[in-house]
Amino acid sequence: MTQRIGLYPGTFDPVTLGHLDIIRRGAKLVDKLVIGVTTNPSKSPMFTLDERLAMVRRECAGITDTEIDVRAFDSLLMHYAHSVGATIILRGLRAVADFEYEYQMAGMNQYLDASIETVFLMADVALQPIASRLVKEIAYLDGDISKFVPPAVREDMLARIAAKSV
Ligand code: ADP
Repeated sequence: MTQRIGLYPGTFDPVTLGHLDIIRRGAKLVDKLVIGVTTNPSKSPMFTLDERLAMVRRECAGITDTEIDVRAFDSLLMHYAHSVGATIILRGLRAVADFEYEYQMAGMNQYLDASIETVFLMADVALQPIASRLVKEIAYLDGDISKFVPPAVREDMLARIAAKSV
């Protein structure tokens, strides 16, 4: 039987409880989940690609029985999906604001490769407002981020901010 492979792409700067909830839910739909961490040069990330990869790997350890493979990519999403044998792209949907962008991207991706389906998942209601960008802003302003990221990610963020402010 052929393996059903899903690809969950994102910047993960840093990985949040929202991402991890989507990973847990998405993992139930596939035999193997590839988490594609983008280099995303258009955003100036808080963490390097290698740091983000290590953080995602660490936080995914043991969260699901499904095989998880965390990898870096910087090519066109549909080309990358094809190269890892994915037939499903997983995306999380938060609010109406996400919808417009995701709708357009999924539509264009259909043109690029009609054999790959984009599947949208919603995180647990309590985790839906979480966005990496806002978590970083709150952390920089010394707010409590413990409800948004795992404890070790919080430590990594506080260490990075402390190192920048010396
Ligand atoms: P962000 O948009 O927070 O910078 P990413 O680019 O890493 O994060 O997002 C990767 C995917 O995860 C996107 O599909 C995004 O919509 C989804 N996602 C991120 N946070 C959440 C959340 N709290 N609930 C549902 N989906 C989410």
